[in-house]
Amino acid sequence: MGETLKPCPFCGKPPVERRIVEMYPADADWPAGEYDAHYTIACDDCGIDMGDEYRDEVVANWNRRAKPVLKRVERQPLHIDDDSLPAGGANG
Ligand SMILES: [Zn+2]
Repeated sequence: MGETLKPCPFCGKPPVERRIVEMYPADADWPAGEYDAHYTIACDDCGIDMGDEYRDEVVANWNRRAKPVLKRVERQPLHIDDDSLPAGGANG
């Protein structure tokens, strides 16, 4: 539990950590029933969340995204070749 959650990368508010437990009813394969637990870290303000089976993984993923790497994207001018457009129209 040592790792600190970084604030939301979008709004900077502290995220909400939840442990989700889903119960499945008993059936032939799992007579005692089964449950599935995972962790989520969410920002309710921004409506984003990420989850994983292991808390450490979620925290690591969240903290990785908390400092997004801004990539420079080269903008290419959009070139539309007139010849590539269908000629004529709907008559044919
Ligand atoms: Zn947020």
